[in-house]
Amino acid sequence: LVKPLPFEQARRCVVETVARSKPPVIETVFLANAAGRILAQDVVADRPYPPLPRSIRDGFAVRSADFPGPVRVVGEVRAGEAFPRSLSPGEAVEIMTGAPVPAGADAVIMVEHASRDGDLVHTDRPVAAGDFIVPPGTECGAGAVVLARGTRLDFGHIGAAASVGAAAIAVYSKPEVAIIATGDELVRVEQRPAPYQIRNSNSFTLSAQVERAGARPKVLPVALDNYESTRKLVEQGLRSDLLLLSGGVSAGKYDLVEKVLADLGAEFFFDRVLIQPGQPLVFGRVRNCFFFGLPGNPASTMVTFEIFARAAVDLLSGRSEAPLPFVFARLSGEFRHKPGLTRFLPARLATAGRDVTPVKWQGSGDVFAIASANAFVVAREDRESWAAGDMIEVLPR
Ligand code: AMP
Ligand code: MG
Repeated sequence: LVKPLPFEQARRCVVETVARSKPPVIETVFLANAAGRILAQDVVADRPYPPLPRSIRDGFAVRSADFPGPVRVVGEVRAGEAFPRSLSPGEAVEIMTGAPVPAGADAVIMVEHASRDGDLVHTDRPVAAGDFIVPPGTECGAGAVVLARGTRLDFGHIGAAASVGAAAIAVYSKPEVAIIATGDELVRVEQRPAPYQIRNSNSFTLSAQVERAGARPKVLPVALDNYESTRKLVEQGLRSDLLLLSGGVSAGKYDLVEKVLADLGAEFFFDRVLIQPGQPLVFGRVRNCFFFGLPGNPASTMVTFEIFARAAVDLLSGRSEAPLPFVFARLSGEFRHKPGLTRFLPARLATAGRDVTPVKWQGSGDVFAIASANAFVVAREDRESWAAGDMIEVLPR
């Protein structure tokens, strides 16, 4: 089609193209069902947090100017109540964690640092204004945006939403992602393949990847390597928000995916990327539906989904950005590759995340090497060799 794109350029093309497309549909869900969803609204604080000065220790609320004491205990304040009056000089109030500090008090002495003798309490330690008190509005002010639209809600976000009373919230509807595997050699997982056949694993991996990305996979039947079968299924797949095809995009005689898409009026943004695995990689659009023609080798399908299609799923889900979560790790041994392609090779990243070791593999058909790995090492196109101990980019999975 056009000349092949370097990795970064192809990725930018996906992100910029999909980010410009129409925003997803919005729905309202109860907070209890919101984990993993993408916020379609800002969530704002309904009042200052904390609303009153809050004690962060069990102990005694005091006036720091009274110290060294002793001071006289005139009452108590528990979490869930407010002390009814202001503290006068020489007075203290017994206080519990989470309770509001009475007016007039400006410090809390931890119970572990206080000695009490009847009504009197004192401490050997210095007492400074502000000790163990969170002043009002210091966590956030009333009306402050505590969660921004486009955030994928994890447990930390859910806690903040619950705190500000967001009982029901607007989230983006999950996009539907159609999955079509192509190939006359494919049989169903529950079948025993003839020696010249293989089981269709890509529909399963892609479905798992789509689900992990937070979208709704819709696995369609396998397309045979003929025009009619492929066309019929592609037409069906184009009714989803995104269509993923695996296989049938190389230069072989029976690679019909691009031809079918072209006949359906596709606009192609690229059909080759300088990466390995995954060079023949097609990205385009028919009307409102974006599609990826992913190469059929299992490792190629997985890698190209993670580094390209995943970004499209994220953006169609309403996420505001889709960066690749690269980390750096130390190579356990020397590593070389032929520059010109960016390579994503299966590797084991040590639990501590410091050391990375490429795993042995037989090329992009080797699904078992991928299963024994937990990451991809990224060999950029412009560098040829790394010594043992060098830092290298890694894409954990
Ligand atoms: P293709 O891209 O169609 O030329 O396929 C490349 C290689 O990937 C071939 O060896 C196929 O047998 C294999 N392959 C294609 N589709 C699948 C699939 N759905 N599951 C497992 N392997 C596949
Ligand atoms: Mg094929």
